[in-house]
Amino acid sequence: MECDILVIGCGPAGLSAAGYAARAGYNVLAIDSLAPGGQLLYIDEIENYPGYESTSGYSLAENFEKQAVSFGVRIEFWGAEKIEKNGDRFKVMTTGEEVVCKAVIFSSGASHRHLGCPGEEEYQGRGVSYCATCDGPFFRGRKIAVVGGGDTALTDALYLSKIGSEVHIIHRRNEFRGQKVLQNRVRAKDNIFLHLSLNVERINGDDKGVKSVTLTDGSELDVDAVFIFVGIIPNSSVLEGFADLDHGFVVTDSHMRTSVPGLFAAGDVRTTPFRQVVTAAGDGAAAAHAADEYIQNL
Ligand SMILES: Cc1cc2nc3c(=O)[nH]c(=O)nc-3n(C[C@H](O)[C@H](O)[C@H](O)COP(=O)(O)OP(=O)(O)OC[C@H]3O[C@@H](n4cnc5c(N)ncnc54)[C@H](O)[C@@H]3O)c2cc1C
Repeated sequence: MECDILVIGCGPAGLSAAGYAARAGYNVLAIDSLAPGGQLLYIDEIENYPGYESTSGYSLAENFEKQAVSFGVRIEFWGAEKIEKNGDRFKVMTTGEEVVCKAVIFSSGASHRHLGCPGEEEYQGRGVSYCATCDGPFFRGRKIAVVGGGDTALTDALYLSKIGSEVHIIHRRNEFRGQKVLQNRVRAKDNIFLHLSLNVERINGDDKGVKSVTLTDGSELDVDAVFIFVGIIPNSSVLEGFADLDHGFVVTDSHMRTSVPGLFAAGDVRTTPFRQVVTAAGDGAAAAHAADEYIQNL
C-alpha cells in the first residue's frame, strides 16, 4: 500500500500528528499494534490536559481518534516490524501490509518498568502510579512512598514532598544513582525519609486503594500512594541500526527530525525531558509540520 505519511503508533503523539498531516491535505495512514489511544487507555482520570477540567483517558482517546478520522486519517491495527529507506521512499514492513511512503512519523511511546511485586497491578490507578506530575496532586497532605534511586525518583520525590505530608524513598541499593545535587536536596528535606538497601515486597490495600507497603526486611510502612520510578522502556526496537538512539530513545531536534531525513519521532519514544499527553500531542503537531516541509522539498 502507498501513502504520503505513515504514522507508527496511535497514542496522543501519533493521532495528533496524523490529524495535523491529514488536515494539511496528505494521504495519511496511522497504524497501531494494539489500539488507538496508547497509554491514555490506562488513565482513569486525567486532570492536566489543557481545555478539560477532568476526563477519563478512554474518553480523551476516543476524541483524539474521532478527530483524526474526521480529517481523513486511515487507521489500521498493524504493528511496524522493519523500516528501510530506498532513495526518497520508505518501505515499512508491518504485521499487515507492506507500506511505501514519503515520510514516517514514529510515535510508538514507552512503557514504565514495573516492580513485579504483589499488589502493584491490583492498585494501579488507586495509589500505585508511575508519574508524579500526573497523580501527585491526588495525594495532597497524604503519606507517599517513592521507589527508585535515579534522577527521576529524586526529582519527583522533591516534587511530591511539596504535596504530601511525608515522602518515603525506598531504594534497593545503599547509595542513590541520581545526581549529587539532588541527593543533597533530598537529604535536606525534613519530610523525606530514606529506606536504603530495601525493596518493596508487597503493596497492601483495600477497596479504597493503597494502605501500606511491606519492605524486604518485613517492616510495614503506612502510605496512601506508591510512586514507582525504576526505569522507562522506549518502544524503539524497530529503529535499532536505522536511526540514532540514546539509551533506546529516538534522538530528535526541536523539529522532531531524526538522524534519517524524512523520519520524524514524537512523544514518549523520543529524547524529551517531559513525558505527558500534552507534550506528546505537541510533538505530534510539530512532527506533522516538519514532515510537510520535508515532502514539499522532495
Ligand atoms: C497510568 C498512566 C497515567 C498517566 N497519567 C497521565 C496524566 O494524568 N497526564 C498526562 O499528561 N500524562 C499521563 N500519562 C502519560 C501519558 O499517557 C503519556 O505521556 C502519553 O500517552 C505518551 O503518548 P505517546 O503517543 O508518545 O505514546 P503512547 O501513549 O505510549 O502510544 C504509543 C502507541 O504506539 C503503539 N506502538 C508501539 N509500538 C508499535 C509498533 N511497532 N507498531 C505500531 N504501533 C506501535 C502502542 O500500542 C501505543 O498505542 C500517564 C500514563 C500512564 C501509563
